Amino acid sequence: MEHFPLFLNLHGRRVLVVGAGLVAARKIALLLSAGAQVTVLAKAAHPSVSAQAEQGHISLHLGAFDAQWLQGMWLVIAATNDEALNAAVAQAASARQLWCNVVDDAARSSAQVPAIVDRAPLTIAISSGGAAPVIARRLRERIDSLVEPSIGWLTALARRQRAAIRRARPELGARRRFYHWLLDGPVHDALRAARPEAAEALLEEALRTGEAPPQGKVLLVGAGPGDPGLLTLRGLRALNEADVILHDRLVSPEVLQLARRDALQISVGKTPGEDHEATQQRIQALMIDHASQGRTVVRLKGGDPLVYGRGGEELLALRAHGVAYEVVPGITAALACGAYAGIPLTHRAVADTLTLATAHRREAAEHAHAPGQHTRVYYMGVERLAALSAQLTHDGLPFDTPCALVENGSRPGQRTLHATLATVAAQARVHAIASPALLIVGEVTRLGQTLAWFGETLAPEHARPKTARAAALAA
Ligand code: SAH
Repeated sequence: MEHFPLFLNLHGRRVLVVGAGLVAARKIALLLSAGAQVTVLAKAAHPSVSAQAEQGHISLHLGAFDAQWLQGMWLVIAATNDEALNAAVAQAASARQLWCNVVDDAARSSAQVPAIVDRAPLTIAISSGGAAPVIARRLRERIDSLVEPSIGWLTALARRQRAAIRRARPELGARRRFYHWLLDGPVHDALRAARPEAAEALLEEALRTGEAPPQGKVLLVGAGPGDPGLLTLRGLRALNEADVILHDRLVSPEVLQLARRDALQISVGKTPGEDHEATQQRIQALMIDHASQGRTVVRLKGGDPLVYGRGGEELLALRAHGVAYEVVPGITAALACGAYAGIPLTHRAVADTLTLATAHRREAAEHAHAPGQHTRVYYMGVERLAALSAQLTHDGLPFDTPCALVENGSRPGQRTLHATLATVAAQARVHAIASPALLIVGEVTRLGQTLAWFGETLAPEHARPKTARAAALAA
């Protein structure tokens, strides 16, 4: 081991920071958050450091460094941009056997400040020993995204209840099992659901009556439109907790690759000859069955689970069977296709109303808004494009209403076809647009011809802006 990791209790202890620029300011903030009593010595101070002094958080001295300043200190940080001065501070500290960190100078430092994941009271520190701080920081980001905030709250709860746990579970093995139960069971779930009082009550109850074996649960997770970068952090964590993953066909393989290696992955898409109802019943039975055996089940759906995902029905079934669940939203196809086709779904003076609809059902209240002010997004429309566009023009939208059909939104094969209600069905056939694709109808789609930045854009002549207003919009 090159460096010995150590966590310092700085509460009320004096620390000297030499330097008062921006770099020093960051270290000062860190020291203050650890409760240190900070003295700052510098020739001049950044306004943010002066402000800290005025508010009484630190004591600031303007002047030159000499070894006298080390008197009574537990730790020294040299954070000036004067290398000779930093070296002098480090040397003086060494002479007094006082730990000294020289910011960004591993060779002169006897102590180094690691990259930190702060889930107080839980702290994760990563150090490359000064060899490559960027690598340590990158690792910090990875760990930071995986360690959920609730772990910190659980640690704080465990600290508060530590003596009680020790009394109620005097035997080491039983105590260890109890702590595992805390992590895996309903107490942690309650903290994740932002119900700290319920968590505390569950813990106390378990200390009195014995902890029930961990209950299974279902996490209903939105996988987003396909690009794995569009999965949420909570979704990623869920994939790492899962024992079983039940996913739809629409979920991209790139997203599934992020799941825990030993999780059981089951594709639960519709099978040939099976009707929607039977599929749905089979999926619900699978979720309930696995969760009832104490497993953590991730039900992974494309986009958002509660937007045309039948997620609501699945939650009702879980509730009816008393299975615990959480819902993790995802980026729905309408938002992703808009973003990745450069189409702002609302745009000042062009569209102030947004409707998400399915091509399968006839829309109600079609005339509520002037056509130009309204963006309509249709899911599941590829096979029904002719019927859908006919319906919309029948309902009063002009034949030349611009629209965009986005195929494979956010995925490597994305294509955006610009057309009008009169031509979109025929054009989609010409270009063999296939599912998954989403139809966006409204003036805003013209902007996509200017703002497109991802994938391929197909804009036949007739769909290009003609009127002065449209040209101005698209310019
Ligand atoms: N829950 C999903 C929608 C499921 S319905 C969500 O929130 O996005 C399935 C329909 O969504 C498809 O028929 C298609 O219209 C649309 N869709 C899903 N992913 C898509 C993608 N990557 N690109 C274009 N359309 C998509």
